[in-house]
Amino acid sequence: MTFQALGLIAPIQSTLDTLGYKQPTPVQKQAIPAVLAGRDLMAAAQTGTGKTAGFALPILQRLTMDGVTGPRAVRCLVLVPTRELAEQVYESFRSYGGNLPLKSAVAYGGVPIEPQITKLRKGLDVLVATPGRLIDLLDQGAISFAMLQTLVLDEADRMLDLGFERDLDILLAALPKQRQTLLFSATFSDEIRKLAGGMLRDPVSIQVSASNTATKTVKQWLIPTDKRRKPELLLHLLKKLKWGQVLVFVKTRKGVETLVKTLQEQGISADSIHGDKTQPARLRALARFKNAEVQLLVATDVAARGLDIEALPQVVNFDMPTVAEDYIHRIGRTGRAGMEGEAVSLVCADEVEILKAIETLTRQVILRIEEPGFEADHRVPETGPKGVAAALAKKAAAEAPAKKKRPFTGPAGGKAAAAAGKPAVTARPAGGDASLGTWAPPPPSGKPAGGARSAGGKAATGRIYGGAKPAAAPKGAVVVTGGRGAKSLARTAGKATAKPGGRKTGPR
Ligand code: AMP
Repeated sequence: MTFQALGLIAPIQSTLDTLGYKQPTPVQKQAIPAVLAGRDLMAAAQTGTGKTAGFALPILQRLTMDGVTGPRAVRCLVLVPTRELAEQVYESFRSYGGNLPLKSAVAYGGVPIEPQITKLRKGLDVLVATPGRLIDLLDQGAISFAMLQTLVLDEADRMLDLGFERDLDILLAALPKQRQTLLFSATFSDEIRKLAGGMLRDPVSIQVSASNTATKTVKQWLIPTDKRRKPELLLHLLKKLKWGQVLVFVKTRKGVETLVKTLQEQGISADSIHGDKTQPARLRALARFKNAEVQLLVATDVAARGLDIEALPQVVNFDMPTVAEDYIHRIGRTGRAGMEGEAVSLVCADEVEILKAIETLTRQVILRIEEPGFEADHRVPETGPKGVAAALAKKAAAEAPAKKKRPFTGPAGGKAAAAAGKPAVTARPAGGDASLGTWAPPPPSGKPAGGARSAGGKAATGRIYGGAKPAAAPKGAVVVTGGRGAKSLARTAGKATAKPGGRKTGPR
């Protein structure tokens, strides 16, 4: 199927040609005609599926064909949970709308509000915003929703995870009832269904695939080890497997900084991205990584949703996440748009419960490979049905020799590796069949092999939290820090309200 067959106009098609998009992805095939027809949408699609173009392309087309904006007005509002995602979605709108006479902007907290107010003055066709800053703009009378045609809620599950429920209530009350609403979420928990029930009218339902799409295209394996050995193990793997650029996930902001320091002390170029950093600093770190000026980018989960880095082959879970679904988002940073990708988790004894939750959610048992010299003193119990891990390892060994993988040359032609005097990666663990989930064997040296999946665990329903700290994730609690400003937090705590006087929606 072509984009033309979906009814997209010539200027958009020519942009897609320039971008090299040859065929619509499954979510695009379903979403584009529905949005063009003016329908509401409830889409279970996670990042990496092409969902952004799935809503941006038909929205841009409708906005082009139908009217112009007015002072302070916004015709399409895209709400996202994090600043990084806001930037990414905004960039997508700019890129997809490159040939169209439309104005778009992005607004999030942590940066001065005045430039955002200035941009709004003449009106916008598309505004991508985080909820807290949008409420501030509303309070200041800087924005009018009188002309709003379409609302998109992107990564709605993340929005609730981050505690934006109250902010969403305030915003939804300020929006015109007559509008098109598109809701995207990686999963559909009861909370999301409740939210959808209150805002969607006869929606077209899209289920691209189960919530484990990324887990099928990304080869995964884990190394059991002790917590204290993890920094050393990471350094060892970097050298042994000749990794190029790696995105490393660490649970806490402090942990991120400690690891970056350790890496830098060992002469490895690394930068960090987490919620304590200012937005310009985060963007700078991301740009340096994208330009291959640093080899390692160490991040907390808050960064995971918004990072779109082309051709990123390697993700390392230095710490396992707190919430199982974050694993899917983390590994979704690699293996994007059909590329090969690989995710390695360093798992210590007290992370076994979250590992089980991840395996249940993704319906797989992650291949477990001991790294000689780094075996855990504190045993990491086997997960999955009895004997599955051993059977996987045996199967992997029986299927030798490993398939060769395309060497990684990095986003900027392997500059980082070259700068570090390293060859392009050739010795990473062998990958499985990219067609999803067949295990490839480990090389005879005992090096880990890329992974596959096996049956195990039951179908996941709703949100699954790691059992390690069950009390840390009660219903509706904020389990991942970052993404929200002080005012937004205060609103949730009932200590602040959006100024009712500021929420005028009529044109002025
Ligand atoms: P998303 O799921 O929206 O985060 O998109 C994931 C990646 O896929 C982005 O880098 C897009 O540029 C890319 N992409 C989206 N649609 C297509 C397509 N039809 N063909 C090729 N790449 C695409």
